Amino acid sequence: MYFVANWKMFGNSKSVNSIKKVINLTKISKYKKAKIIYCPPYTILQNFAKKTRNTKINIGAQDCHYEQNFGAYTGSINAKMIKEIGANYIILGHSESRKSGDTDKKINLKIKSSLTENLKVIFCFGETLIERKNKKTYKIINHQIKSALKNVTILRNIIFAYEPVWSIGTGKVPKSKELQKTAFLIKKFLKSRFRGKYNFKLLYGGSVDNKSIHNFKLIKELDGFLIGGASKSSKKFIDIIRNFYK
Ligand code: PEP
Repeated sequence: MYFVANWKMFGNSKSVNSIKKVINLTKISKYKKAKIIYCPPYTILQNFAKKTRNTKINIGAQDCHYEQNFGAYTGSINAKMIKEIGANYIILGHSESRKSGDTDKKINLKIKSSLTENLKVIFCFGETLIERKNKKTYKIINHQIKSALKNVTILRNIIFAYEPVWSIGTGKVPKSKELQKTAFLIKKFLKSRFRGKYNFKLLYGGSVDNKSIHNFKLIKELDGFLIGGASKSSKKFIDIIRNFYK
């Protein structure tokens, strides 16, 4: 099971010490199956990479520039740079990045350049509240997946993350039955669209905390969780993992 911590634009060089408790948790046999990935902001990515070297925790970035080569892109960082400092994962297509300018085309290019640099991609998609109300959830999800993965042929390094926009940071979560159905349909869609021997991994993200995890853990279609707000406190993050394995 994946537990991905998305720290968004939070944290400083001291924050790295807070993950010591999480490192200790990974040493307990009960939690050995938890695949923990920390995605802090760029400024402390390297601190995290150093701190977690020789531990079971992996590190990921939250975004990158779509250009694979170095170039005159002031203020940007590409997948090559991220890989070089010791990260192995990258979140792409997050709704907050989409809001600040990510288009389907850019996400597609970012995915391709990240895969070329051997980063594992945590690809986010999901509908807004209006799209949900208009019963467009599946249409939107299918469109986002299709366009992000245009001409991507090798999918084994992609982890899919369903994140309904209306649930991110709001405390609102889908009902278990609804989420189970959506997760089932996403996996069905992936299998029919991308034939091959892929064991697609699907995460859910949106207001996951130590309470909502009790319902979500019963959904067998899910392979893990993308956790924003609740991952900033190691106590809250650990509680989620503990409650999952309870
Ligand atoms: C996220 O940032 O991807 C996320 C799911 O945030 P939150 O857990 O705070 O809703």
